[in-house]
Amino acid sequence: MEWETVIGLEIHAQLLTKSKIFSGASTAFGADPNTQACLVDLGYPGVLPVLNKEAVRMAVKFGLAIGASIAPRSVFARKNYFYPDLPKGYQISQYELPVVSKGSVEIELENGESRSIGITRAHLEEDAGKSLHESGGGVSGIDLNRAGTPLLEIVSEPDMRSAREAVAYMKKIHSLVRYLEICDGNMQEGSFRCDANVSVRHKGEQKFGTRSELKNINSFHFVEKAILYEVQRQIELIESGGKVVQETRLFDSRKNETRSMRSKEEANDYRYFPDPDLLPLEIAENFITEIRKTLPELPDEKKQRFIRDYGLSGYDAALLTASRELADYYEAVVNAVGGEAKLCANWVMGELSAALNQDSKDVTQSPVNAVMLAGLLKRILDNTISGKLAKEVFLAMWSGGGEADAVIEKKGLKQITDSSAIEKVIDTIMAANPQQLSDYRAGKDKLFAFFVGQVMKATQGKANPQQVNEQLKRKLAG
Ligand code: ADP
Ligand code: MG
Repeated sequence: MEWETVIGLEIHAQLLTKSKIFSGASTAFGADPNTQACLVDLGYPGVLPVLNKEAVRMAVKFGLAIGASIAPRSVFARKNYFYPDLPKGYQISQYELPVVSKGSVEIELENGESRSIGITRAHLEEDAGKSLHESGGGVSGIDLNRAGTPLLEIVSEPDMRSAREAVAYMKKIHSLVRYLEICDGNMQEGSFRCDANVSVRHKGEQKFGTRSELKNINSFHFVEKAILYEVQRQIELIESGGKVVQETRLFDSRKNETRSMRSKEEANDYRYFPDPDLLPLEIAENFITEIRKTLPELPDEKKQRFIRDYGLSGYDAALLTASRELADYYEAVVNAVGGEAKLCANWVMGELSAALNQDSKDVTQSPVNAVMLAGLLKRILDNTISGKLAKEVFLAMWSGGGEADAVIEKKGLKQITDSSAIEKVIDTIMAANPQQLSDYRAGKDKLFAFFVGQVMKATQGKANPQQVNEQLKRKLAG
């Protein structure tokens, strides 16, 4: 019997506002515990929340980018539950009437096809505080700095059919919120995290299976691992006669397994009701129009333009436009070189990306900037150095060697294009290898590569390969 996986993601993106969603306290990360929690965040009696307009602007921006409807009127509700990091005893969130609904994004699959994933809703809500269990002394502490930080919860339709698709979707939303500059996407600091809802069913079945919800996953890698584990667990459970129960589970990345945390609560357990302290959120048409004007070129549009203007494949274009910074870097290289888009793409995705990865840097921190890389590529194009030696030059530039020309000069890597100099080397090689020469002349064509190799070796790879080929052919023919 063949199984099918069904996945829906709830992504929490922390919005990049300076102050909290209902108070003026700062949202900056890393301050000493409880130094950025004001009376509103602490839930003192007699205080009133005031909605941060900037958070609304960011939610609308996201809604427009995914082609969703923006509700002219939406409502903040109280979601009631107790937790030590939630002093009010409720979280303010949007429930029945979210600000953004019914949008979609395209994801690229491995086989080059793309698929549309529906986004049911995106609503505004406040984050809770944090319990600190590592502080020692056998006690836990509460840090309320995060309490009241604005979140956009982005809820997808159960449209994904594999862990890979879920990762592609999560990456797409990550790329989008960063393009829109509404979230820094920092997953280590928890600014971008997701809950994955996972179920399985027999292929062809219409009805969804019972799902479990994997909580608070903060890396693309872990999402994939957690889903793969959970799918296998559910299949084995059903095949051995058991039943999946609706529950919340936690992914343990060290043990690579999911564990039950609690049985899944239903919406009505939370006793949602409209928050009497907050007026309904009304959004005027001209507010939306103004925001529409601020939308940047989005990843999909940029990708299409890269395919069209630079003649790149869909795959290359998708990689280069995954972040706005990388796309900007690439375009700066092409501009400085004055074309040769494919060569530039290969270098940005190849040597540059590998070096960035190796040193865990993002492109804005690259020690080789776009103009410097262009300077190197120009030396390949004008035959000063071979592509192979260019890699050596690049690494020297990466570790502080300066501009390409300086490195080439200093290391004496200039390509030999003087045909009489090449001829001299060929003569020496032919004289030193009489046996190979007569074998070649007797019809052993394969030996041509041997002679090329010898010449390149004798010139430390500096002879222009094309010239070596041409001159060797002539000389060996006798
Ligand atoms: P809740 O808010 O209680 O977690 P929702 O109905 O809002 O529940 O759904 C949350 C997420 O679960 C959505 O992303 C949705 O697509 C997904 N989902 C719902 N049913 C299933 C299912 N059977 N299998 C996988 N995902 C599901
Ligand atoms: Mg949920």
